[in-house]
Formats: sequence, C-alpha cells, structure tokens
Amino acid sequence: MRITEKGGAESRNCWDKESTRDDARAMRDRVKVPLTPSLVLTSGRLTLPGEPSTLNSKSWTGSHECLARAIRSGRWGEALSTFETQPVEGWVPVLLSLVREVRKPVVTFSRNVALSLSRLCRNACTYCNFRRVEVLKADDAIVNSAGLWNKTATIDQRPPERGLLLTPEEAISIAREGARVGCKEALIISGERPEARYESYNNVLKRYGCKSTVEYAASIARAITQEVNILPHTNVGVLGQDEVFELKEVNASLGLMIETSSFATCLEGGPHRYSPGKLPCLRYRTLFFAGKAKVPFTTGILVGIGETWRDRLESLFLIRDLHERYGHIQEVIIQGVKGSPDLEPDASFSDIMATVSLARLILPNEVAVQTAPNLIEGRYGEALNAGVDDWGGISPISSDEVNPEYPWPDVKILSEVTEKAGFRLRERLPVYPRLAREKEFVSSRIARIIESLGDDEGYARSYPFD
Ligand code: SF4
Repeated sequence: MRITEKGGAESRNCWDKESTRDDARAMRDRVKVPLTPSLVLTSGRLTLPGEPSTLNSKSWTGSHECLARAIRSGRWGEALSTFETQPVEGWVPVLLSLVREVRKPVVTFSRNVALSLSRLCRNACTYCNFRRVEVLKADDAIVNSAGLWNKTATIDQRPPERGLLLTPEEAISIAREGARVGCKEALIISGERPEARYESYNNVLKRYGCKSTVEYAASIARAITQEVNILPHTNVGVLGQDEVFELKEVNASLGLMIETSSFATCLEGGPHRYSPGKLPCLRYRTLFFAGKAKVPFTTGILVGIGETWRDRLESLFLIRDLHERYGHIQEVIIQGVKGSPDLEPDASFSDIMATVSLARLILPNEVAVQTAPNLIEGRYGEALNAGVDDWGGISPISSDEVNPEYPWPDVKILSEVTEKAGFRLRERLPVYPRLAREKEFVSSRIARIIESLGDDEGYARSYPFD
C-alpha cells in the first residue's frame, strides 16, 4: 500500500483512520476507563513504607546491618534517612549485596530502528538534546520565544533538519531498512504535541489529515504494520485515554518516562519550568490509562535534574503501585541526564547506579531495570552488578536520537561482557516474553507479527550477534 498526502488518490485507504478509531472505540467499550485516576500527584508528598511513625530513633543507627534489615522488611522510609544523610559510596555496597540475592540470570536488549517524526516540542526542558527550533519559520520562533530554551548558540551549530515532520514515505523506508538488517522494533518518537505551539507544524500535519502528532504517529504505526514485518513501539509524550486505545491497536508497546515525582522541577528555576507536559500528574495519568487499557509499557526516571533521593524513591513507588494494579509495566529506564548547562555537572555514575539498585530492589523481578549502555562509558560489569537486566534498544543503523554523540556499543562485545559477568544476553521484542502471547495485551494485528518474529519462549528469533 502506498501512502500519500491528504488529497492524493490513495489517501483514504492509506490512512485508514476511521478503522483505527472504530477499533479504539470497540476496545474502550470493553474496558471502562474512569476519567480521572484515583491517585493524582501534585505538590503533595507520598508517604513511603516505614515512615514516619515506624522510624524508631533509638534502634535506628544507620549502620549497614540496620539499612539491610530495613530494606529487607520494606521499611524504605527508614532507609531513606541513610540515603539523605550519608554519601552514596558509603551505603551502595549494602544495595549491591541485596541485589545479588534477587536478580535474574538473563539480560535482554532490543534490536531497533528509530523514526523521529518531529523534533519540535511544546515543552522546553532545559536539559533537552532532542528538541530543535531552527527548522521553524522566523515568525513561529518569535511568537514562541517566551518559552524557548536559551541555548541558541549550541542549537545553531547542529546540522539543519530536513523538515518539520518525517513523511510517511520516509518512515516506511527507514522501517524497511531496519527490518532488512534484523531489527524487530520500529521506535517511533517525537517531541510532545508540537501542534499546541507551532502554526507551521500544524499546517504540515493538516496536509496529512491529522489534527495531532499522536494521530499521525498512529497512522504511521498502522502503515508500518501493514507494509513491514516489524513491531512499532511509540513514545510521543503524554496521552489521553482515547489516544492510548488508538495507539494500542497498532503498537506492540508504548512508552513514556514518568521522569520524576517532583513537582518542584516545574516551578521557577526548575528544568521543567517551560514544560507543561512535565507535570508529574500528567505523566502518571498516561501510565494509569495504559494500565487500564492493558498496554505493555515502558517508563523510567531521570537522574540529575535536581531531584532528591526521596523523589527517586517516590517515583519508583508510584510505578510499582501502578504495576501491581495493572501488570503492564515491562521495564523501567534509569537515565542519567547529560549535557545541560543548567544542571552541571552531569548525574554521577554512582548516583545512577545506586538508583538502578534501588529500582531493582523496589520493583518486582518481572519488571526489567534498564540503562542505556552507550551512556555509561563502558562500565557494563558495574551496571550489571548494580541490577541492570535490560540494555534497551540498540540499533545497527540509527544513532541514539536523544544523545547522538554517544554511539551504541557492539552487540557482540556487549554479549561477551554480559556473559563474563555471569549472565546470558538475549534479544527480545518490544513486547516482553511475559506479555507477548497475552491476548488482552496485544491486538490481533500485532500478535501476527509477534508470531513471525518471536521464538517459542517469546524472545526474538535471533541470528548470532554480528
Ligand atoms: S519533552 Fe522531551 S523533546 Fe520535549 S523539550 Fe522535554 S526532553 Fe525535549
């Protein structure tokens, strides 16, 4: 099937939006989703298990034994007092020894190809390496200058973009090339809702008959499932409940970083001060909708945007709580932020790894803990010991779209290092083996592609790592 712009002879068949909506409506009728989640995080604090009433100052010494006991019995409020008052190097050995007791022998990765639909974004996070504004017409840029990140000098040095939006033809051609070299995942990403901010972008979207980036992403994913034997995974920002249903039909899984539970990051001086989509309640709500809709989901937290240890724990407990209710979280990414002039220095390796260990200890074992292997300076063994059990997407043909200056490691080398550390590396699909054959979690069109790309256990049918 060919894809054309709206108005082209084949446009109705190609976009097939009505049928996507019908599928979404039918699915929604089967699962009633309330309009608002039961728990909305605003500026309030969560109470962690073990605080404050159970913290007994007479028995709490902050020693390693005391910390290990508190974590083993889930008294995280007590453990937090150590994290907040002592240097990370002092208590991380306790976490490492506890992680050794719980971690799985298999480590996974996904062979993917990235499709960046648009690098415009309604948000302007101060640490962003993805967003571009130089593709805009001057008047759009001026109209929106209030929220523009003042890193213009750096932005101008980057190569110019080809356009405001990846065309359907380009998307299909990239996905095809990915499938040809063995990719099983088409990673569809975009800045969040640029249409809320940029008129010229809106005009381009309209040419394809779409009102929103989410609608466009769904159309691209649908076309990919029709034309290429590869599984879409979409992450285009916060979503409403109808949008989650629409995307589920044509995606193996969806993703959205919850990033942080810290409302303070959205206030004056915070890295999310120009980013309406970064309100923690909106991120949380998207994960909630995905849970109700039974969508295999990737989320994660950022380390190094001014958040505290309490914020990191709270974020992990929010994710755990949602997963316990809906079982949809497949993996949690722990990502250290790099390259922001506002947030110098970068998150330290110790902080990132300690957060990996906390995630491994707080989340159930069926939820993988992921960190990007290209951002840890080759310290793979330490990351595995800290609790990493998924290396995320590694592409043979596209660069890390968010951190292009950090190349992907060679999968063969990663496999050797992983095995040397005592683990087995396996290629997975964008939907994990646990959910790959669950009818509630995958649509029939996605199930057909899983059948052709997956093995008996639900991992990817993989050729030797070369
Ligand atoms: S939401 Fe993502 S793409 Fe948009 S400015 Fe923030 S980090 Fe960049």
